[in-house]
Amino acid sequence: MGKQLHNQKGEKMSNIVDRCDLCGGELKPGKTTLEVWRGEELLVIRDVPADVCQQCNEAYLAADVSERLDHFLDEYHCHQPERYLAVPQYSAVQAMGDKS
Ligand SMILES: [Zn+2]
Repeated sequence: MGKQLHNQKGEKMSNIVDRCDLCGGELKPGKTTLEVWRGEELLVIRDVPADVCQQCNEAYLAADVSERLDHFLDEYHCHQPERYLAVPQYSAVQAMGDKS
């Protein structure tokens, strides 16, 4: 993975270091887990290749990766999920109390 950047002569430009937009941390090729709401349904897609910030874990997807995921999200219901997760849900009242 990782970006292969070339200048106009076709030489590899390896001195470009991507930085995190949020904290300025260094990005390194890695994997992330995406949570995507589709209406009332929450989908989890694991092991998505991404550039991951070494400081805050923010993940940045390459354009072709997010394109392929967009395509998948159009037809995800045609695919059998590898498993179902049980996710605990709380209301804000439970989390913060109902004092107003
Ligand atoms: Zn960061």
